[in-house]
Amino acid sequence: MIIQLSPTISPAQQDSIVTMMGKLGYKSNEVKTQQGHYLVGIGKKEIDLRALGHLPGITDIHRVSDDYKLVSRKWKVERSRIDLGDGVVIGNGSLSIMAGPCSIETEKQVEATIRHLVKNKVRLMRGGVFKPRSSPYAFRGLGVDGLKMWHRLAREAGIKIISEVMQVSQIAEMYDYVDIFQVGARNTQNFNLLDELGKVDKAVMIKRGISGTIEELLSSAEYVFSGGNERLLLCERGIRTYERASRNTMDINAIPILKEKTHLPVVADPSHGVGLREYVEPVALAAVIAGADGIIYETHEKPEEAFSDGQQTLDFQESEVLIDKLRKVYELREGF
Ligand code: PEP
Ligand code: MN
Repeated sequence: MIIQLSPTISPAQQDSIVTMMGKLGYKSNEVKTQQGHYLVGIGKKEIDLRALGHLPGITDIHRVSDDYKLVSRKWKVERSRIDLGDGVVIGNGSLSIMAGPCSIETEKQVEATIRHLVKNKVRLMRGGVFKPRSSPYAFRGLGVDGLKMWHRLAREAGIKIISEVMQVSQIAEMYDYVDIFQVGARNTQNFNLLDELGKVDKAVMIKRGISGTIEELLSSAEYVFSGGNERLLLCERGIRTYERASRNTMDINAIPILKEKTHLPVVADPSHGVGLREYVEPVALAAVIAGADGIIYETHEKPEEAFSDGQQTLDFQESEVLIDKLRKVYELREGF
């Protein structure tokens, strides 16, 4: 159960609610976020909510049968929006496009990408400065110095930044230079990282684990929300199956399922989802039709020279075609 508390609740009123929850067989967990103050009740007994509902300090009370609670749509039917400032809002009834290279490489590369994004009115740029690589010998990113350079150039152009954080110590280093922290597929169940991101007042996008279920993704989001941060979005990025014709198998199913199960915005990553440049466009368009609030994909001026993931990266011409089609298909979907 989720109990929404009034902003003016007194400690004594809160204590009596917690005591009553205990009597009814519910353990209470207090959660304070940027937007709300909640008691999440965990228990198994069927209870009459009226036993609690009359207590002072409660603004609303909801029964949520899912294992994840705060990210569930069972208590919050209206969709969450993430406002990044300067007119950039995710999940507000427009399609969010986030594009950029797999890795931030050079100043020249960042400048060229920003020019491409500005030309196409894309306000969010992706790029990794800490790269999780399967091989320890592969390029592992420019680190915080690269992020600072990117941030300086992006700010001048009014572009927001999404970048992957791999470990707890990087949160503070990156904090002033990112608008969205990305949790990568290899870290979806790094619970220490998720706990720390719960303490941060900055948006977090959690990618689905390589072999992670939808339920596990939602539970990972619950970590961050219950830690105090409800500025959250989820990302479907393909899962590992027996299929070898593509790098991963894009689970289009996950998009409408997530939209049904959670109020959080849902983003799709067709680049990692399929892993081959020639299929990124159709998979991206399918994700929009399936209900995605945003698309994140990889683009580079010269994909064949990219330091990482060149095989799934669109050049700027292909990216421009995709942006145009994404917007058209989104309009079509909204008109259904
Ligand atoms: C990335 O976005 O570059 C990335 C490494 O993604 P994932 O965590 O989905 O593999
Ligand atoms: Mn990549």
